[in-house]
Amino acid sequence: MRPENIYVLELSKQVDPRNRIYLRSPPALKPSQCTPLFIAAFKKRNAGCCIHTHSQWAVLITLLLERRPANTTLFEINNIEQIKAFGKGFGKQGNLGYHDTLRIPVIENTPHEEDLTDTLEAAMDKYPDTYAVLVRRHGVYVWGETVDRAKAQAERFVAIFNTMHTFLIDVSLDYLFQLAVEMKKLGIPWLSDIA
Ligand SMILES: [Zn+2]
Repeated sequence: MRPENIYVLELSKQVDPRNRIYLRSPPALKPSQCTPLFIAAFKKRNAGCCIHTHSQWAVLITLLLERRPANTTLFEINNIEQIKAFGKGFGKQGNLGYHDTLRIPVIENTPHEEDLTDTLEAAMDKYPDTYAVLVRRHGVYVWGETVDRAKAQAERFVAIFNTMHTFLIDVSLDYLFQLAVEMKKLGIPWLSDIA
């Protein structure tokens, strides 16, 4: 991959996420169907980075939630040390504590990825503190917020830092999803009342 292969957009110019204005649009390539979903994370959460994966653990979590008596649209887990890797939410200071409950909404998949945009935005509105949205039988979207307005001057540094930060959230989430799948296999509930 070369720099000229990468699509470039100016965020402030994007009025309609489906009719995007590009600063650079490589003619032989096709922009990712995820683009409007990334724009949602950038605009609604001031995210510096958004990662989308088809993690098998994330998919398994959505399948386990689907199997319950009714389709469950929320993954919840508490009393696990790794929860401390997550911030309390957009615009809030500090991270979750060991006893706090991490909540991640689940949206239903669609045949075309860009059609997920409206439900993803609705899930972000309903769960303003979440850093991720699971997509049923598909994967997960994870984002990281801009950490420090002052560092905005050094854009490249912030981009690298936020990419790393979001990557760490993604790794932490994948760890939790795998753990939760194993807990379910052993009959251990995700929520416990240890306090
Ligand atoms: Zn996908």
